Amino acid sequence: MQPAIKDYDYIISGAGCSGISLLLRILQEPMLRNKTILIIDNDTKELNDRTWCFWETGYGFLENLVLHRWNNLTLYTDKTKLPLAIAPYAYKMIRGIDMYNYSRNVTLKRTKIVWHKANITAIGNTEDRAFVIAEGIEYTAQYVFNSILFEEEKKSFEKANCYKLLQHFKGWVIETKEPIFNSDEATFMDFRVSQDKGAAFVYVLPTSPTKALVEYTFFNEQLLDKNAYDSLLKEYLSTYLKQTDYMILETEYGVIPMTNYHFKNHEGNVINIGTAGGWTKASSGFTFQFIQKNAKTIADSLVAEESPVIKKGFLQKRYSLYDATLLNVLANKKMEARDVFYKLFSKQKATSILRFLDNESNLIEDLKILSSVPTAIFLPAALQEIFSSGKKEK
Ligand SMILES: Cc1cc2nc3c(=O)[nH]c(=O)nc-3n(C[C@H](O)[C@H](O)[C@H](O)COP(=O)(O)OP(=O)(O)OC[C@H]3O[C@@H](n4cnc5c(N)ncnc54)[C@H](O)[C@@H]3O)c2cc1C
Repeated sequence: MQPAIKDYDYIISGAGCSGISLLLRILQEPMLRNKTILIIDNDTKELNDRTWCFWETGYGFLENLVLHRWNNLTLYTDKTKLPLAIAPYAYKMIRGIDMYNYSRNVTLKRTKIVWHKANITAIGNTEDRAFVIAEGIEYTAQYVFNSILFEEEKKSFEKANCYKLLQHFKGWVIETKEPIFNSDEATFMDFRVSQDKGAAFVYVLPTSPTKALVEYTFFNEQLLDKNAYDSLLKEYLSTYLKQTDYMILETEYGVIPMTNYHFKNHEGNVINIGTAGGWTKASSGFTFQFIQKNAKTIADSLVAEESPVIKKGFLQKRYSLYDATLLNVLANKKMEARDVFYKLFSKQKATSILRFLDNESNLIEDLKILSSVPTAIFLPAALQEIFSSGKKEK
């Protein structure tokens, strides 16, 4: 059924991670309590289509949704097992379905919040408002917060002269007959697997002694045939976890762009959020915590009645260069990802690297981290990124 009201304070276009993270932030601001909000998605969001993992210190904003947390992480290279001391951070997991259900439940009695299942085909600005067209009907608002990548943007990405690595993965939640996992320890990256098709690693996230999410991940330009991930997962489980008899309870598949493409962050009163807003960390694919931070910044701006467009400070811009430099090294195969991560985590404190990956390190930490990787490889790559267009070398 179409919503009777056509004009709102805010429209949230796409009720995925960034859309509902922003909604939850807005809902907890007393000053925004009377705002009318329309949330549109073409999916009912009734399936657990993804699981988010991230690191965080202390009790987080979404702590009540955390399914599991790990205090110890491990990184494997082909030769070494490296325990990562991450305290005061914990590595946490939230299931998509829990967040989707929670956001609906907390709005059940909020008459000013309207959910609508519809396909959005266009988005733009009128003279003084933003609009969304969903199934032929126009809805307007002061701001549209959009997390949908429309065809036009996809085409412009295809044409752009930038790195286009993909982080693609398939995961199984498995249950074993015997207790084989330590549920306080997660495998952050296991690089013992073949690197022949480009950077590849597996992570193992046990949520109980018999249950874990095991995910096989690649950083390269070519997706695999879906069955190929299954064979690789099977092989990993038998070779490294010595498991052949287990139940597959759930599966997840995903592709995350690893790119220095400049996603448009806004156009007039249409504010792009999430992956569509360029919030995915180009060099790692991590997005969840950037979504949380930016959703808070936007809600704070709305409270202050300021523009919700997120502006990067001068010092923050340095991370775009670091990201592009790593993409340059990986895309041009100057050094294997396995060796880069080993050098980083074996030479520096894991907590400094986590802060660095969160774009929250200080300049001294940056210098230490940058000095952990070979200057002969990374300095020319960085210079190339500064002085050139960041194009993949021929
Ligand atoms: C399987 C998977 C696992 C991931 N795991 C992690 C992780 O562990 N840690 C991490 O930091 N990042 C992770 N990511 C990356 C990132 O956090 C997620 O992709 C996250 O969901 C991005 O949020 P978003 O709001 O940008 O996009 P989405 O969550 O994809 O939301 C976009 C929404 O728009 C809707 N939509 C699309 N087109 C239309 C249309 N035309 N009309 C109406 N609605 C539409 C979709 O149904 C969807 O609900 C993962 C990604 C995937 C795919």
